[in-house]
Amino acid sequence: MLIERAEDLAGYLALNEIALDLRWSWNHLSDALWQEIDAETWQATRNPVAVLHTVSRDRLRWLLRTTDFLSRITKVQEETRQADAASSWYEQACEASRPKAIAYFSMEFMLTEALPIYSGGLGNVAGDQLKAAADLGVPVIGVGLLYGQGYFRQAIDPDGNQEALYPANEPDQLPIQPIRTDDGELLRLQIDLPGASIWIRAWEVRVGRNKLYLLDTNDPANPVTFRSVTSQLYGGGSETRLQQEIVLGICGWQLLKKLGIEPEVCHLNEGHAAFAAIERARCFQVERGIPFDEALAVTRAGNIFTTHTAVEAGFDLFQPSLIRKYFRTYVEKFLGTTMEKFLALGRQSAENPLEPFNMAYLAVRASGAVNGVSALHGAVSRKLFQPLFPRWPQREVPVGHVTNGIHAPTWDSPGSDELWTELCGKDRWRGNLDRLGENIRKAGVSRLWQVRCEARKTLCEEVRKHYLVQRVQDGDIEIDPEEIRDVFDPNALTLGFARRFATYKRPALLLSDPERLARILTSRERPVQLVLAGKAHPQDRGGQDLIRLWHGFARKPELRTRLIFLRDYNMRQAEWLVQGVDVWINTPRRPWEASGTSGMKILVNGGLNLSELDGWWQEAFGPEVGWALGDGQEHGDDPAIDAAEAAELYRLLEEEIIPEFYDRQADGVPGRWIGRVRESMARLTPRFSANRNVRDYTQGFYLPAAQAYEERVTALNDPATDMNMWRKRWRDHGASIHFGAVQVEQRDQSHLFSIEVYLGQLSPADLAVEIYADGIGEEAPFVGKARRQGADSNPDGYCRYACTVPADRPATDYTPRLVPHHPLARVPLDLATIVWPG
Ligand SMILES: *Cc1c(COP(=O)(O)O)cnc(C)c1O
Repeated sequence: MLIERAEDLAGYLALNEIALDLRWSWNHLSDALWQEIDAETWQATRNPVAVLHTVSRDRLRWLLRTTDFLSRITKVQEETRQADAASSWYEQACEASRPKAIAYFSMEFMLTEALPIYSGGLGNVAGDQLKAAADLGVPVIGVGLLYGQGYFRQAIDPDGNQEALYPANEPDQLPIQPIRTDDGELLRLQIDLPGASIWIRAWEVRVGRNKLYLLDTNDPANPVTFRSVTSQLYGGGSETRLQQEIVLGICGWQLLKKLGIEPEVCHLNEGHAAFAAIERARCFQVERGIPFDEALAVTRAGNIFTTHTAVEAGFDLFQPSLIRKYFRTYVEKFLGTTMEKFLALGRQSAENPLEPFNMAYLAVRASGAVNGVSALHGAVSRKLFQPLFPRWPQREVPVGHVTNGIHAPTWDSPGSDELWTELCGKDRWRGNLDRLGENIRKAGVSRLWQVRCEARKTLCEEVRKHYLVQRVQDGDIEIDPEEIRDVFDPNALTLGFARRFATYKRPALLLSDPERLARILTSRERPVQLVLAGKAHPQDRGGQDLIRLWHGFARKPELRTRLIFLRDYNMRQAEWLVQGVDVWINTPRRPWEASGTSGMKILVNGGLNLSELDGWWQEAFGPEVGWALGDGQEHGDDPAIDAAEAAELYRLLEEEIIPEFYDRQADGVPGRWIGRVRESMARLTPRFSANRNVRDYTQGFYLPAAQAYEERVTALNDPATDMNMWRKRWRDHGASIHFGAVQVEQRDQSHLFSIEVYLGQLSPADLAVEIYADGIGEEAPFVGKARRQGADSNPDGYCRYACTVPADRPATDYTPRLVPHHPLARVPLDLATIVWPG
């Protein structure tokens, strides 16, 4: 035991509590404490738990008996308590009926480098949303997996070959705690997998006001083959992935139940998490004693699915045989349904026995709302999910969008934090952002330039540290200190390119003309320097080839001081990178970058973006705030287009970006450049923040989902409102409904449609008769509601409907149609039937 005397214990426990609350990853209140306890460990890890584990007993005892140190601990605690006691945006802006808990399931969370359970963008979105939700008081509860080794770590050999390393995550060195029951026993869940009953351990992570629960299978009591299920993120084959998704979704939901948490809303961050919706339905089924499909129809209203992929190949697929192996008992015994019906939930067509099981399809069929992560990605996703809504116009495929955002307090530099605090206040990211843009606009030119220069200087210092380490790793053990001093220049235009080396990101576009790039970088009058970083998935040969290509280029002696390829791109590097770069470059192949987030992280710091018009940049770009590549169209992988865009990339650098950066006023400040910086900060930082993003989710999704779920629960078993009875009527009788005669009469300014409809056993309340016309160009489609004429049907059983539509388009543009209607249903998500004439 580190602490022997009772009077030291209170201080120690307080420190421990601070260490276990990840808010240190963004508010930096306790940084100085850890620095003082053990500077070396703190510098090396930025992990307070590691600091507390490493410090000697004597040092800690001595500190805890120092009044000044103790009072600093108390101050941190006090500020934390005050922040938590303050009334939150959620309490103020959302009605009292707001949900008490929103479960947020994700395969990865990127919160801090001290808890490496992420790979990239997806985890970044989850982590930043969890933090912003904590700031805003939105009660989001994260559920994820604790990976024994996380995602792979990158080493690069002297020839540029990437090596994958897997250091262990030791739970007692991480800012997490095991969950215990009231009598102190470890809380564990149990699940039957083929061949064994498995123990699942559970961990708690504190993220400000919110919590993240993590599950893992590395329990000593498990058979060895199952202990490693949660070893690696995106490691192993298809079967491991399925096992992980079962643990995440099914055990994740069970854990919440066990902890007494009853989330009204469940947010599925990517299809990986879709089994959570199935387990939620199963629990409701048991509670109410109703069949599984009815339980799912009710509970899905409370589920939200966010899709992150822009291509079909990005969907998680499982072979039906694998699903049968893992789900047989669960489906037949617990859900009480058939395997064929269950498999159909993950398929386009229930009839095709060979079709794999698609987790994204399952997520759509188990959710009450679906969204993409940028406006463009919403449109792309409507195309991808079109097969689930046959005969529906693509514009009406029920996928909306909420553009991603980043958690500004996590990514801002100390200097930019100070500037924003001066102009916008300390609590600027805890409420709505109405005045932020207007206030930051008041920043003076020289002050902004000073913030930029400080962050660039820090970047250069970090680059030099990494340069030294990497040279030693390569075997150059005797490096002349002089050699390090000229690596990077704190006054030179600094470009950054760091991201996963996936081929669609075109990481070598900037290298298409190596000589031209070398000329740009080595200019004497207007020097330019470039930081590169990125990992390629261990199975991605193409991505690794591109790393080798850059590595070879970076070894040219004349580029030694101007270009660095940083190894093992991670969150800590990303922090000083996004704070220090002047221009962040992004060259994905449109429309593959669903959103992209790294470019958003530089906004708060006054960096500028040069990016393909894809993902978030498609909606953010304006000529006053940055530079755009591409024509805003999709061209596949046409090499001619790649070449043209590469040429444009160089031209922008040579003719616009570099000259503007070096166009200096008398005081040495680049006035036009800073004008652009200020415009980008004011206009884009609030818009692409996780604060805006979480408020959008809350108001546009969480509140409506909670209400829709509540309504469906209330309506259950009431013949007048029960959705299941309505669905059954459609299932039994929907095939017989059809159109009779349709007539159009020309009026002055309108067309009058008279429509006969045969409804058979369905009641007029079960459906809507509409007049539809495709939108022109980008416009939304026209949909007019037809009104029933008279209460009776004619002797043949036809009902008459009428609808007047504007005559600015020819009558032939309009088509009548029949769609299901129910006051509680979301059509076509809940029922995708649609009937057109003929
Ligand atoms: C922000 C971030 C990402 C995601 O960046 P994209 O622009 O979405 O590619 C990946 N890895 C790290 C370490 C990051 O900080």
